[in-house]
Amino acid sequence: MEKHRKAPLEISSKEYKSLGYKLIESISEFNETIANKPVTTGEKPKQLQGLLGNKSFPESGMPAETLLSKATDLLFNHSLFNGHPKFMGYITGSAAPIGALGDMLAATVNPNVGAFALGPMATEIEKQTIQWLAEFIGVSSDYGGVLVSGGNMANFTAFLAARTAKAPSDIKENGINSNSKKLMMYCSKSTHTWIDKAAILFGHGTNAIRWIETDADNKMNLEALELAITTDIIDGHEPFFVVGTAGDVSTGTVDDLEGIAAICKLYHLWFHIDGAYGVPANILPELEMAFKGIKDADSIAIDPHKWLYSPLEAGCTLVKNPKHLVDAYSSHPEYYNFATENAEQNFYEYGLQNSRGFRALKIWLMLQQVGRKGYREMINEDIELSRLLYRLSDKHPELEAITQNLSITTFRYIPTEISKDIKDNEAYLNKLNEALVNNLQQGGKVFVSNAIVHNTYCLRSCIVNFRTSKKDIEEIIDIVVTEGRKLHKELLSK
Ligand SMILES: *Cc1c(COP(=O)(O)O)cnc(C)c1O
Repeated sequence: MEKHRKAPLEISSKEYKSLGYKLIESISEFNETIANKPVTTGEKPKQLQGLLGNKSFPESGMPAETLLSKATDLLFNHSLFNGHPKFMGYITGSAAPIGALGDMLAATVNPNVGAFALGPMATEIEKQTIQWLAEFIGVSSDYGGVLVSGGNMANFTAFLAARTAKAPSDIKENGINSNSKKLMMYCSKSTHTWIDKAAILFGHGTNAIRWIETDADNKMNLEALELAITTDIIDGHEPFFVVGTAGDVSTGTVDDLEGIAAICKLYHLWFHIDGAYGVPANILPELEMAFKGIKDADSIAIDPHKWLYSPLEAGCTLVKNPKHLVDAYSSHPEYYNFATENAEQNFYEYGLQNSRGFRALKIWLMLQQVGRKGYREMINEDIELSRLLYRLSDKHPELEAITQNLSITTFRYIPTEISKDIKDNEAYLNKLNEALVNNLQQGGKVFVSNAIVHNTYCLRSCIVNFRTSKKDIEEIIDIVVTEGRKLHKELLSK
């Protein structure tokens, strides 16, 4: 054995610089030219497998340079780009360039942010990031929390904290069956599917979910909520958890958070806000009314990889009283040391993970690079563009604008000859618009998704993309109409 070890994975400083500079050059060129590329190539799994080649795990290694150049080619030429200005399907933000640089730095130092001792500076940066996220969305900076991989995990993390707080105190020892009463949860019918997963994973079963009716504007009906709660109490169940959605996935509707908060207070229930998508919009003073009641939430899920433009993955659970996280996740919950000035915070006691990566750095960098002002500008423009899309489709004789909330617009294509007899052609229009979404998603010119609003199949655009501009919206109108006409002809001739 050599006295000085040189492991196969080690890269010399000279080579590292040369590889790094080259990679940064390709990345920077990619960022600059992303608008000229198709949003997606629409290639099928078989084609992509062909590119990778049917090789088994190699016996010997290969030069890093060859590998990085191959990987850049595969990814830059065969991906779907959610940072493309015409990507507006689903809710995935365009990734801030500084986030990618931050991720590289984070991976280099590689702190394990499970424990202060293993990531001292990283722990403090995560704490500061969480405090800033609370301030960003307009709640007290005393909220504590933890960064997780995304919205689902952020909601799960809050859910277990809520259950530990509201269930009988022996739940950690005896499980949910120790309670003779069934623990019940309440959410509107437009709540994201994470709630099903939570009910299944954490042993309640989906029958413990009360799906509350929504009104015509897609908000939870509060009378129905209160009735469901009181009925369950009379039936001997134990309500414990209510979800308010702040920006629902299909149409961006924000529930009446203040009204839900009042009901939760009255019945001593945990008030959770799923703000994975929409809550960052509370940074705009003109939207404050829509989010009234947010300050009363016991917990909030937010998703920096959506409307804060963080690279994947980044979610965050915020809890009004962070002691509830420690109660749920620490194996020695009497150890409440977070209040003391010099206490070391160990994030493994705040959530499900043990070893944890340094997700905070990219967010910490982004928040400071542009500040509140920068975020106000970007979020406001996303909303303005979404409203523009609504107005343009409303004006266009072959388009129907359907909903517009936050930065989500739904609309559909209606061929000229049908526009007078829509009622008789609803089934056909649904079929046509479904085909249109599929067509657009494959075509690579624009990426929209779908929503079903009161049985109407719509195209759905969600703009959480700081690269989208007015020009893109105008072009999208043309693309949708052109494709719509073509498809209508094709469907008729079949
Ligand atoms: C996106 C979203 C989720 C899920 O978040 P992931 O980051 O995809 O796990 C949950 N709730 C709402 C309202 C969302 O928009």
